[in-house]
Amino acid sequence: SSYDEEAQYEAIANSYAVGSLPKFGYGAEDFDPEFGSYMPAEVKPKILLLGLRRSGKSSIQKVVFHKMSPNETLFLESTNKITKDDISSSSFIQFQVWDFPGQIDFFDPTFDADNIFGGQCEALIFIIDAQDDYMESLEKLHSTVSRAYKVNPNIHFEVFIHKVDGLSDDQKIETQREIHQRANDELSESGTDSIHLSFYLTSIYDHSIFEAFSKVVQKLIPQLPTMENLLNIFISNSNIEKAFLFDVVSKIYVATDSSPVDMASYELCCDFIDVIIDISYIYGMKEDAETSAFDNQSSSIIRLNSSTILYLREVNKYLAMVCLLREENFARQGLIDYNFICFRDALQEVFGIRARASMMRERNQNSLSFNGGSIAKEWDG
Ligand code: GDP
Repeated sequence: SSYDEEAQYEAIANSYAVGSLPKFGYGAEDFDPEFGSYMPAEVKPKILLLGLRRSGKSSIQKVVFHKMSPNETLFLESTNKITKDDISSSSFIQFQVWDFPGQIDFFDPTFDADNIFGGQCEALIFIIDAQDDYMESLEKLHSTVSRAYKVNPNIHFEVFIHKVDGLSDDQKIETQREIHQRANDELSESGTDSIHLSFYLTSIYDHSIFEAFSKVVQKLIPQLPTMENLLNIFISNSNIEKAFLFDVVSKIYVATDSSPVDMASYELCCDFIDVIIDISYIYGMKEDAETSAFDNQSSSIIRLNSSTILYLREVNKYLAMVCLLREENFARQGLIDYNFICFRDALQEVFGIRARASMMRERNQNSLSFNGGSIAKEWDG
């Protein structure tokens, strides 16, 4: 059982885990066994995915969140209605991808901008097809961003310059420079240069789309600095080169330690996760097929002939930690495992606090709106 396991780690740790992760002084009642899965729907951040028709919105969504292979997207039907894809049930990252048909008119009075851009909308991703003439896209980007900013100035505006697999390296730089320049010129001409746009070069044919999504998602996690800090402590005490915290379903990395991310390592970790999930699906499914193949016992070790070790441990239902380390440093696996458990506990506390805080906020809001209601009544009278 896991108790035996913990006791074992404790014993190993007592023998040589000096300077491991600090234990925080919270009582056992503060532990939330299913952290991450439990978060009121009202506090779910919302990401919008927008862009002209055929810019690649459905393909991105299918490739990142539904494991479709990039070639299959050639046969996707074009989006022609607003679709909401709530991926929160399978992913740690609780957000919705709203896929808009390109031709929606934001100035149409029936278009409910307050509802769409307001409140929970935290990031707006605008897709520009870099292989197409992008003038119309730029116009749409400008009108969309200005409209959304009026409703909600807190939105993060992210621009994916997409389908760059068809461009040479020089063309990529040139395209990004031009789009950046034109988009910002238009904003300053219309006097809205307080709007900040971030640009990413993306393609579904390599890992750039996952990288870009990771960066977008990381901006929306208020606990990110704490998570990075915990990862730093974890790797330095365990002699690990690099550690990523992955959302298993999407292969978006939610956090990593503060050493620079090298694309090759990231890709290696993504492929590693794919292998584990595929093997688990083939050989690890229970009879009742309801349960996911990825569970709290999931872990895996792959030794590469470059004397590097890839080590995966399950963090919770959605998250996995993937570490890259040198073979000789894996001799003390017990130490790594013990430190990992400390890391997992600390993370659990961080998210437990968030969930409780949002519940409190909600309660306060309810009582506030109740007061608002009674004041309004008095005015009417
Ligand atoms: P939507 O109308 O915005 O949802 O666009 P779709 O997702 O239907 O994509 C339109 C076409 O673009 C499809 O044929 C995709 O295969 C193609 N596409 C999407 N992403 C990429 C990419 O990164 N590179 C290339 N070369 N083609 C892409």
